Amino acid sequence: MISTEELRGAIKGQVLLGESMKEHTTMKIGGFADFYVDPLDKDDLCRAVTLFAQRGLPCLLFGRGSNLLVHDEGIRGAVVVTTRALGNYTISKNVVTAGAGVSLPLLAEKTFARSLGGLEMLQGIPGTVGGAIAINAGANGQEILDAVSWVEILEGGKPRVVSKDEIAAGYRYCSLEGHAILGAGMKLQKLSATEREKIEVLRAAALQKRAVSQPLSWPNAGSVFRNPAPEENPSGLSAGQMIDACGLKGFQRGGAAISETHANIIINKGSAKASDVMELITLAKEHVRKMFGVCLELEIKLLGFEKACC
Ligand SMILES: Cc1cc2nc3c(=O)[nH]c(=O)nc-3n(C[C@H](O)[C@H](O)[C@H](O)COP(=O)(O)OP(=O)(O)OC[C@H]3O[C@@H](n4cnc5c(N)ncnc54)[C@H](O)[C@@H]3O)c2cc1C
Repeated sequence: MISTEELRGAIKGQVLLGESMKEHTTMKIGGFADFYVDPLDKDDLCRAVTLFAQRGLPCLLFGRGSNLLVHDEGIRGAVVVTTRALGNYTISKNVVTAGAGVSLPLLAEKTFARSLGGLEMLQGIPGTVGGAIAINAGANGQEILDAVSWVEILEGGKPRVVSKDEIAAGYRYCSLEGHAILGAGMKLQKLSATEREKIEVLRAAALQKRAVSQPLSWPNAGSVFRNPAPEENPSGLSAGQMIDACGLKGFQRGGAAISETHANIIINKGSAKASDVMELITLAKEHVRKMFGVCLELEIKLLGFEKACC
């Protein structure tokens, strides 16, 4: 165990006890984390993570909480937010070095503004660089690990650089998930004026499509389920299309509902609990299994749940 005094003495940033995760997730759902730590800088973050590990306390890094469902009873142990401590980036020619807490939409915008290609289609993903690498986030045919050359992780209390060829990646999968990601280096493509113009059209269309096809005015965590692999899904439909075909759009449990706009997104209508969301997840899985024989797997991460339902 660790006393609050010891923790506050060791960490320069903010240490909160019993902080509601509702305030820190885009779903606006979740109970209290025992310790909520917002370190001042990279050294402070490494010290916090190492201290928790030495004391055997569960500890996880998180960014903008945009891919999370936190249990109503909260999280035992510590959550360490990266947005301040690891929130810096540099761009030199076509090489980008970004802390794990850097906003992905911001980095996508800034790099494209300098005619650098490789992140522009990720602008609509409201997470951090670290959160995106942890699941190899992607959109419109682009995935973050396509652009990454190396990732820095914290291992045994020390930063270690992992080169791209040591990392296995696939659809919403990265072998570094579960490690503490500190930052990454990316080599982007210098775009000619013609290439930039062409990409600008695609990028604007993708953002426009997102605005009309996603329930952006309601708290949510993006796609709840991964799209099943083609070999396991003879229908060829996406997870959202299958849930829609089951007639579940608009279906409500407590304060949570399957979005009318996008069936693979669950929205918080104001007072949703994590248990309401879990009921809808179970319902959608059961219906899709019965109608299509497909077992949907979660894309969002469950925190504080002893056992995932999938
Ligand atoms: C409206 C909306 C649209 C979305 N669209 C897309 C989309 O098109 N494509 C897509 O892929 N995703 C999408 N998402 C999901 C989400 O934004 C991404 O998965 C994003 O990459 C998560 O980043 P985050 O910083 O919010 O991670 P968090 O939600 O804070 O964390 C998610 C997971 O990553 C881990 N993690 C976070 N930071 C680190 C770190 N530094 N080191 C190690 N582990 C870490 C956490 O422990 C947790 O397990 C969308 C979400 C919303 C709300």
